[in-house]
Amino acid sequence: MTSKNWAGNFSYSATRLLEPTSVDELREMVAATPRIRALGSRHSFNRIADTTAVQVSTAGIPLDIEIDEAGRTVTVGAGARYGEFVRQLDRAGWALHNLASLPHISVAGAIATGTHGSGDRNGCLSTEVAGLEIVAADGGILTVRRGDPGFAGAVVSLGALGVVARVTLDIEPAFEVRQDLFANLPLTSLTDHFDEITASAYSVSLFTTWGEVGADPVWIKSRMDAPAAAVVSGKLFGASRVPVQRSPLAGAPAVNTTVQDGIPGAWWDRLPHFKLEFTPSNGEELQTEYLVPRRHAIDAFEAVRALAPRIRPHLLVSELRTVAGDDLWLSPSHSEDCVGIHFTWQQHIPEVTALLPDLDAALAPFGARPHWGKLFETDPARMPRLYPRLADFRELAERLDPGHKFRNEFVDRWLFGA
Ligand SMILES: Cc1cc2nc3c(=O)[nH]c(=O)nc-3n(C[C@H](O)[C@H](O)[C@H](O)COP(=O)(O)OP(=O)(O)OC[C@H]3O[C@@H](n4cnc5c(N)ncnc54)[C@H](O)[C@@H]3O)c2cc1C
Repeated sequence: MTSKNWAGNFSYSATRLLEPTSVDELREMVAATPRIRALGSRHSFNRIADTTAVQVSTAGIPLDIEIDEAGRTVTVGAGARYGEFVRQLDRAGWALHNLASLPHISVAGAIATGTHGSGDRNGCLSTEVAGLEIVAADGGILTVRRGDPGFAGAVVSLGALGVVARVTLDIEPAFEVRQDLFANLPLTSLTDHFDEITASAYSVSLFTTWGEVGADPVWIKSRMDAPAAAVVSGKLFGASRVPVQRSPLAGAPAVNTTVQDGIPGAWWDRLPHFKLEFTPSNGEELQTEYLVPRRHAIDAFEAVRALAPRIRPHLLVSELRTVAGDDLWLSPSHSEDCVGIHFTWQQHIPEVTALLPDLDAALAPFGARPHWGKLFETDPARMPRLYPRLADFRELAERLDPGHKFRNEFVDRWLFGA
């Protein structure tokens, strides 16, 4: 079997891909397969979803959307892409608190890696999980709900505990958002007013290439029920609002991006950067991201800036976002509010690979945690310090999967130091 991940930077090593069309079929397949690994929508840039054995996709399991208005939750098939059910949720009057930059990723894949959007008070997408139905090694269904023992370990699981069949997510009343772009934020504003800038709206993204300008553009997503002051004044610490529709990727068509220029729209049509009907790029890119405790944000920016001469020749763009801390054991934003320092690289594989250890070394003093689904080179020996609940996760994984049916090289290396 030869299939590639979304970016095409590697081929999976799996011998077969199983595609069940019901939860019962999934259970039979898991029970009958000695080593199996869940595959989402293939958007990770590393081998987190890979295996030399068998992969299983939950994309063919019916969505079966169930909205529980009283409990304020929605339950969907885990392989669903966010874009497949957000409209239906909105039509029923409900919303998710946040979305990542694109709606094409699967719910199970996003929550297994701590995928996030932006916003000082917005936790990563895994924080909206209220419950999981997991197909365990023997094919039985394990249901875990928020508050159950081990729940905080089971959400960001890297696929190591079983195959998630259905996911229950928190919902809130639907809301509208407008997006505005601000151009040319001065470097001094980035360093002196970062906290005020990210606090200025529901979700803020700052794009930079680590040059003379601090950020360009700053992408402000404000809820219509709480308009950002900068949107009203048109000014943001030296940056000015620009009435344009623009992709964050230089040269990429703006039509790919969700509607900007202050035009209000539904939460699902504004919180992601990219529209479901388009792909953000042709995939010729790589990505790396570190989640850094906010108290170190400015020092971490400086550390990255010191590497700018080596970074810039291979960079398409960097994005700075904020993520609220959470209690999920393997979440990269575990226990502390974080800033995400993201790099969209050109697909210069040897050069980026050579740079990664130095980038990691530059950010290590700040306790930076790498995004699980992107490219990184962190010494596995540092993981127990970065993740204080790692020992608890190991115990949970041993208990739920004593035969190591769901493990792969990635999990063995980064979570078990093997
Ligand atoms: C263009 C692009 C934009 C991106 N934007 C963002 C962003 O805005 N924010 C951000 O944080 N990340 C972003 N990412 C990274 C992406 O969100 C993560 O890599 C995410 O894990 C991808 O989900 P997936 O469905 O493709 O999962 P995969 O990459 O296929 O798998 C990821 C992990 O999920 C596990 N998994 C998948 N399905 C199941 C299941 N049913 N049960 C158990 N485990 C399962 C796999 O085993 C694996 O461990 C982006 C990636 C791309 C390519």
